Parts: sequence; structure tokens; C-alpha cells
Amino acid sequence: MNLKRAIVEELLKHDILVEPEVVDYILEKGGLNYIPSFISKYANSGFITISSIAPPKPAVEIVEKQEGSLKKATEKSDLTRPEAYEHDWDFRVLIDPGYTQSSGKVDDFRALFLDRYKRLSKHIKRNFLIRGATEIKDITSGEIRVIGLVNDVRRTSKGSLTFELEDPTGKIKCLYRDEGFLLNDEVVGIVGTYREGSDIVYVNEIVRPGVRKARRERRIAEPIGAAIISDVHIGSKMFLRKSWEKFINWLKSGKDGAEIVKYLIIDGDLVDGIGIYPNQEEELDILDIYQQYEALANYLAELPDYIKVIITPGNHDLVRNTEPQPPLPSDVQKLFNGNVEFLSNPSVFSLHGYTFLTYHGASINDLVELIPGMNYERIEDIMKYMLEMRHLGPNYGGKVPIAPLPRDFMAIDLVPDVFVTGHVHAFSYERYKDVHIINSSCWQAQTKYQKMMNFNPVPGKVALMNFQKDTVRILSF
Ligand code: FE
Ligand code: ZN
Repeated sequence: MNLKRAIVEELLKHDILVEPEVVDYILEKGGLNYIPSFISKYANSGFITISSIAPPKPAVEIVEKQEGSLKKATEKSDLTRPEAYEHDWDFRVLIDPGYTQSSGKVDDFRALFLDRYKRLSKHIKRNFLIRGATEIKDITSGEIRVIGLVNDVRRTSKGSLTFELEDPTGKIKCLYRDEGFLLNDEVVGIVGTYREGSDIVYVNEIVRPGVRKARRERRIAEPIGAAIISDVHIGSKMFLRKSWEKFINWLKSGKDGAEIVKYLIIDGDLVDGIGIYPNQEEELDILDIYQQYEALANYLAELPDYIKVIITPGNHDLVRNTEPQPPLPSDVQKLFNGNVEFLSNPSVFSLHGYTFLTYHGASINDLVELIPGMNYERIEDIMKYMLEMRHLGPNYGGKVPIAPLPRDFMAIDLVPDVFVTGHVHAFSYERYKDVHIINSSCWQAQTKYQKMMNFNPVPGKVALMNFQKDTVRILSF
């Protein structure tokens, strides 16, 4: 039997009628081997024309077989459109600080730290080690368990840690002889020994809030996902236009993995900005910040309109540096088309049931120095500590200004499925306790400043998250 006939007969067995050109198409795709996937795509489609499986067009007409008669029906989708086209968006904002303001009074700071204590102590109490914790005012001789905010961390000449622990009822001095570290302003539980009348607790155990993910099936039926990037830095002379355009063209192609991209997440530093560091104008290609955003908006306008773009700001963007940073202002937002969502930094949102926590990552510069053994090659280690501390940057008074709001938005309330940072222009991915940890790379070559700091960026990497498989692929452009 000739091959073409075999194909037609095979399709007929599944009630699929095709134009002769479709048979040629199937031959091109692999002949009989391609039949099973063709059938799974087009079963119950009735009569299939080549135009209905040709490259994307706005709307195609297909003929649908109904009740024995052939009836014309308009189908909104083209049968070979990328998978991402075929499915609806499922985007929900869970926590977004928005346009917050604070007067910066002492009382505001007290409220912020009290809120942090309340939020984080809740998680610590779940740890069996800390069961039966008391308030500091109630401690008596013997073994004690208390939860508090850490202050005044010092390391003694013998390598022990001394610190003060404070809860709403009081303060105690603590001494910890083991290895480990503590940051000022993190919330921990301690197990220790105390003798009434003395002024110090000997700490045996330090308990951080930590993350425990309730195991649940999070994979979805649809083969769709998100591309995750940050630090585009459009406007900079070091902007890597070639790689960037390669990336944009890949998204536009809807092929080679791009067919699953339903969302593009950009985690801050969209543009290089102006006046971010001394003499920046010498390294700028576009000197007007609005024109920088416009250049980005033009690229994003080229994307297929089934891709939703989620944009959060970073330290180079046109918002205050104090965290949480509000979404980009409306005069910037209006440069973009309707497919773009603007959120704060940090923010928590869900895509098809996957919880995303995105934070640009300014605190990483502090944490890399404060946490022993950290370096810029392994940002995932810092992100793991953030998760264990349940905080994106507890240390107040570092390089990152923090807004004293009545709610601590930097506390990690919800354990994310995907935790994204950027900012340091490195790249790392790791799966940690079922959380996909992504430090996304950049689209800017080494700057003078980075050269001076002896830092080599890792540009052009894209994390491609697949919601159906619950996996992350790393692509290079
Ligand atoms: Fe950046
Ligand atoms: Zn940054």
C-alpha cells in the first residue's frame, strides 16, 4: 500500500478527513510515526484543511462534522498555534504592597518590627523544638524556649555569638557557643538554659522560621509556562542588544520551547535609568529615562498577544529605592500595551496555582557580606537563607533603605513554589525543599563599576518554567 493511502486510511479510522495537502504535511512531519500525535491534536476536528494547520493567522474557518452533516463552524484557534495560545491566563495577585507611604517616625519602625515578630513567630511556633515557648517576661530557671527579634549581634574573640533577644514583653542577653550566625533584626526561637538572677541565657539551639512545603500536586494539564528574566538595562551602552533581540525573536517564533511561554516575568532593572551611580551618563546610550522605557515597550509590543508580561521594579527603575518599591508610575505604564501587569517589588502572585515570589534582590549585596561563606557565584545559597529566615532582608540599616510600614512586606508569608531574584547579574537555579529558586541573569555586559569590583556578569540566560512538568529549563541567548 502506498504511504499516502496508508495515512489517509489511518486517519479515517479516527473519523478524520483531510485535504491531500495535509497528507503531504504529515509526510513531512514524519509520516506514519507522526499519526498518533496528529490524531491526539485533531481528533474530532472533522474535515481538516491545510490552511487550518498552516502558520498562525487571526481566525480560520474549519469545517466541523455535526450530526451526519458537514457544517461550517468558526473556530477561534488555529490548530498549529503555539500551545500557549490555546489556553487562558490564570494570573492572580496574592500580595502586592502597592503605593505605600510612611512618615518614617520612630513609632512606625516599632510597628514594622512588631508586625515582623508576629508574622515570623507564628512559623517558628510550629517547630516542635520550640513547643511551649514562653514570653520573655515569664522565663524561670531551667530550660527555656522563647521567640524574639535579634539585636546587637556580636562575635566574641573566642568565636561565640552574643546577642539580645526581644519580644513585646522584654529583652534578654544570649550567648551561643556553637557555629552559626545571626543577623540583626531577624526573628528566631531559642532553646537555652537560664538561671534566675543571672542576666544571660546559654543558647543550645537556634530555630529559624524555615519553610515546609505541604506536598501537593502542582503540575497542571496544559503544556504552558513562563519565561523568567530580569536586569534588561535598556539605555545602557553595555545593553546586549543582539542577545536580547535573539530572545525576543525566540518568543515571537512560538517554537523551540517558546510555544509554552504564556508569561514573561521581568524582575526589575528594566532600564539602566539615569543618575543611578556617579558619571552614569558616560555609559548611557539613551539619556532620557522615558525613552529607555519606550525602547523596552516597543520590544514587548512585538510579542504575541497571548503572552502576558509581568513587570516589577528594581533599583535602576523610576521608583523610590526604599523597599517595598511601588509599581512603575502611570506615566511609564502608559507606554506599554495592555498585556503588561505592573506589580511592586517584592510581590507575590500566582500563575495556574504556582505561587511566585519575586524580589529584585537589593538586599543580596548586604547578605553576601553578612552571612558567612556566601559569594556572588552561589546566590541560591543566599536565597535559601532568605527562605529559612522567611525574610528578604532582615538587617535594617544596611545598603537597602526600608520603609517603616505597619506591615512587613519583606517577610515571606507564603512559601512560594517559585522564588525569583535578580539584581546581581549572576545566574543560578536550584530546587530547594520543592521551591524553584531562580536568580535570573541580565542583558548587560560588564560595566566599569563591575570591572572595578572584579565581577563578571553572566548575561543572556533565561529560566523557562514549565507548569505541566514542574521543571525549569535554562536557555542561553
Ligand atoms: Fe541590574
Ligand atoms: Zn538591580
